Amino acid sequence: MLHDLGSRDQSFIKLTQRVRKQLVEVLSHASSSNDLTAVLLQGSGTFAVEAMIGQFVPPETGKLLILVNGAYGRRMGSICDALDRRYAIAESSETEPLSMEAVRKALEDHPDATHVAVVSCETTTGVWNPVQDIALAVADHSKSLLIDAMSSFGVMDIPADLPFDAMAASSNKGLQGSPGLGFVLAREAALERSNGNARTLALDLYQQWKGFEKSGEWRFTPPTHCLLALAQALDEFEAEGGATARKKRYQANCDVLVSGMRKRGFQTILGSEVQTPVIVTFQMPTHESFVFRDFYDRLAERGYVIYPGKLTAAPTFRVGCIGHMVARDMDGFLLAVDAVLSEMQVSLHV
Ligand SMILES: *Cc1c(COP(=O)(O)O)cnc(C)c1O
Repeated sequence: MLHDLGSRDQSFIKLTQRVRKQLVEVLSHASSSNDLTAVLLQGSGTFAVEAMIGQFVPPETGKLLILVNGAYGRRMGSICDALDRRYAIAESSETEPLSMEAVRKALEDHPDATHVAVVSCETTTGVWNPVQDIALAVADHSKSLLIDAMSSFGVMDIPADLPFDAMAASSNKGLQGSPGLGFVLAREAALERSNGNARTLALDLYQQWKGFEKSGEWRFTPPTHCLLALAQALDEFEAEGGATARKKRYQANCDVLVSGMRKRGFQTILGSEVQTPVIVTFQMPTHESFVFRDFYDRLAERGYVIYPGKLTAAPTFRVGCIGHMVARDMDGFLLAVDAVLSEMQVSLHV
């Protein structure tokens, strides 16, 4: 990130093309016959999700059926409101994966939907939704699938040959790049059909794609440092052994975290069988001396930054398993938790 590349310079154009190719290859079964292309976009992950919905769901004639079991699914509804796209929400429990029964019922209840949207790993809880089965059911109903794969991209595989039109993710989660860049992996045929749908200049994925294909350049000033970081992160991803190796390392982080926290009297919201090794949600302890703000600040002082909860049903907090971390780092976190609980004079054991 310390290099200052010219955004119209050949070296940056080459870097852009290389990153676009590597992003497609993150998926298993990636080959030229998949017709997949990576469209990069300035901004955070939500910019990419917003661009994806505005690009593929046609104004007026389109309708998006959103399968919701958490805050990120609901956010796609807010995006439809802002973009004035027709949509319906099929809402399920936040603490369970979407059930195929509910998915099939939603598909039958909304025959007029043209597109279906789903979050693969709902980061609200860290639950994994059965994207492969959902994709097949959506294809059975002749609808197009849009996936928010943000927090699981590069960790939990979604094969390139699964029937979906587009998938959005970003540079700074499982890929371990810096924040600042989103991207959409899309079928070229679907992109061709989507020309003219976008009601925005800067988030028009068709124009962005054509720009990359024509001159190799970004239409507007790209985050040059961020792309350099992502290129390095993708090389490290490949050197580590791709998604398989990364998932294994995150799973080890997750196992140390979950068993250690349970030993200390914390309870997880999810059962291990539906938990992705991405982020773990814990019930907020009810001990009278446990004040979350205090817990958070004292952990942060020791170098461990956690997340507030996003669950609507119950007070929770979250701890991430992704990033440049190994199981030893999770051991360090558990020791910090011990120290903080003792300072707060909280014992969660019954
Ligand atoms: C992180 C995340 C996003 C995007 O959030 P930004 O803050 O815009 O980067 C979207 N969906 C899911 C499932 C996420 O985990």
